[in-house]
Amino acid sequence: MKQYDYIIAGAGCAGLSLLYRMLKEPLLQDKRILVIDKVRKDQNDRTWCFWEKGAGLFEPIVHHQWRTLQFLTENLTKQFTLGDYRYKMIKGIDFYHYVLSEATKFENVDFQYEKIQKIAAKEDHALVETRENTYTAPYVFNSTGFFNPAINEENSLLQHFEGWIIKTPTPTFDSNVGTFMDFRLSQAHGDTFMYVFPMNAQEALVEYTLFSPKVLSKAEYKSGLENYIKDFLKIDDYEIVHREFGIVPMSLAKFPRYPEVHQRIINMGTAGGFTKASSGYTFQFIQRNAQFIVDQLKQGKSPAQKITFRDKMFEWYDRTLLEVILSDKMSGKEVFAIMFKKLSPEKIFAFLDNDSSFLDELVIMNSVPKKTFITAGLKQLK
Ligand SMILES: Cc1cc2nc3c(=O)[nH]c(=O)nc-3n(C[C@H](O)[C@H](O)[C@H](O)COP(=O)(O)OP(=O)(O)OC[C@H]3O[C@@H](n4cnc5c(N)ncnc54)[C@H](O)[C@@H]3O)c2cc1C
Repeated sequence: MKQYDYIIAGAGCAGLSLLYRMLKEPLLQDKRILVIDKVRKDQNDRTWCFWEKGAGLFEPIVHHQWRTLQFLTENLTKQFTLGDYRYKMIKGIDFYHYVLSEATKFENVDFQYEKIQKIAAKEDHALVETRENTYTAPYVFNSTGFFNPAINEENSLLQHFEGWIIKTPTPTFDSNVGTFMDFRLSQAHGDTFMYVFPMNAQEALVEYTLFSPKVLSKAEYKSGLENYIKDFLKIDDYEIVHREFGIVPMSLAKFPRYPEVHQRIINMGTAGGFTKASSGYTFQFIQRNAQFIVDQLKQGKSPAQKITFRDKMFEWYDRTLLEVILSDKMSGKEVFAIMFKKLSPEKIFAFLDNDSSFLDELVIMNSVPKKTFITAGLKQLK
C-alpha cells in the first residue's frame, strides 16, 4: 500500500488544473502527490474555449482570444464586443505539456499510468486500486467517471460535436471575430449550430455542434462541416489540419460532488457536476473549483465545498433552461436567439458563468416566455 498526501485520479482538465494550482501554492508544493491516469496525456484531443475577464492562470498558453463575437440565425445577425470579457482558446496538448513540464520540477509528484479499478473511502482516508497496486491518501480528487449517474433520454441531452481546424492557402478569415453560434443550419437532428473561431487569416476552428439525444454517424458530421464550409464560409480550397470529436452530457441527473459520507473522495470536473448542464461549458468552473480546493487545503480545511444558496439558484436556473429544451417546449435556438436579441452579451456571459447579479437575473427572466419557464422551473423545484 503506497501512501500519499493527495491522490489525483484522472489527469485531464480537472486533475491537471488542480495539480498545477497545488504546485503554484508554496504551502502545498512539497506534499506527496500521486497523479494517476489510464493514458498518457500526449494527444491534442480537445480544444477548450471559455470567456474570462483579465489574465487567467493559463494565459501563457492561450492560443488566441477574441473581443468580438457574432451570433447568427436566419432572422438575427448580431455582432458584439465583449466588454471586459475575452473569449479564449487553449489547445489540449498545450495545456497537458504546460502542466506536465511544470510537474517534472517536483520530485514529490509521482505519475502512474494504470487503469483505476476501484475508488473507496473510510473515515480517515481514501484508496485507489488498480490491478497491481493500492494507493491511499487522506483525500482522493477524482475526475474519472466512476461515480457518474445513469444518463438516458429522459434526463439528458448530449452535446456532441466534430471540430476541424482548417487551413486555407490564402488569407481568408478575420481573426478578430469569432462566431459564437451560427444557427442557420437544418435543425432536423435537434439544436444544431456551428462555432467558427479563426486563429489567424488562414486557420480557423469550425465545429459542428448539436444538442440532441443521439449522436450522428461519422458521415453526417463530415457532410455537415463540408457543406457549411462551402455554402456559408464560401471556401472551396482548404486542408484539415486537426480533427476532434466530443460528447459532453447536458444532464438533469445529479453528478455527485462527494460520493461517500466521509467526504474523502472529492469529485471534480464533469464527474463532480462542473459541466454546465445548459451549455456544456466546463473549463472555467473547473478552474474555480480547483482554486477553492487549494485555498481550503492550504488553511488545513476540508476541500469539500459547502453548497451555498446562490449555487443552488444557479443550478435551478440551469436545470430550468435545460428542462425547457429537453421537454421540447422551446428549442435551444429559440432560447439563445431571444437572449441575444434582448440582452447585452456581457449579461448573458456573466449569467452562463454563474457570475451575474440577482438584478441581472431578473432582467433575464423577464426576457424569456414566462409561462414556459415558470412551468419548467416549478418542475425542477421538486
Ligand atoms: C472534444 C471536447 C471539447 C471540449 N471543449 C470544451 C470547451 O471548449 N469549453 C469548455 O468549457 N468545455 C469543453 N469541453 C468539456 C470539458 O471541458 C472537457 O470534457 C474537460 O476535459 C473535462 O475535464 P475533466 O477533467 O472532467 O475530464 P477529462 O479531461 O476527460 O479527464 C478525465 C481523465 O480521467 C481519466 N480516466 C477515466 N477513467 C479512468 C480510469 N478507470 N483509470 C484511470 N484514469 C481514468 C481519463 O483518461 C482522463 O484523462 C470539451 C470536451 C470535449 C470532449
